[in-house]
Amino acid sequence: MPSNAGLISSINMTEVKAQEDVHQVRSWFGLTGEIVVESQLWHLVKVGGVRLNHPPVVNLLLRRGLTAADRLRLSYLHECGHFQTLPLALAHLLSLVWISRRRPRSAHERLIWLVGLAVAHQVVWELLAETYVMIREGSRYKQMYVQNARPLALLCLTALAGLGVGLSRWLAR
Ligand SMILES: [Zn+2]
Repeated sequence: MPSNAGLISSINMTEVKAQEDVHQVRSWFGLTGEIVVESQLWHLVKVGGVRLNHPPVVNLLLRRGLTAADRLRLSYLHECGHFQTLPLALAHLLSLVWISRRRPRSAHERLIWLVGLAVAHQVVWELLAETYVMIREGSRYKQMYVQNARPLALLCLTALAGLGVGLSRWLAR
């Protein structure tokens, strides 16, 4: 497992401090927070003192079969990706709300629409975060996933993309 210093230099984003397993990060739009990849079961992102513990579903699905070092580095990058792409994820969410704001719906339809919106937002944000990982890793990402043929990971990405696009189109209709 690489040292924290090694991880920080490989992540190479605007990190202002690293101590223990906590990586303090600052996004391009000024948001600061902390990232902890605690284990394979839980990741922590802390924004403005608010702890957002979450099961790393995408990281678990996509990192299977990778070395421990690659898994850790890509997991950190993925969480960094959530920080860096937050404005895009919010723009997607708000644009769906804006486009469909005048469509009449019953209370039942509205509830289903809101559940769909929550799912679409999460799926699109996961894809944006993973796109950030792809951009940061470049050809190394392609080598890990395409050339080493990881069908589960590619299937997962394709399914997420299909779900994100399909749900967004349904919500905007
Ligand atoms: Zn994620």
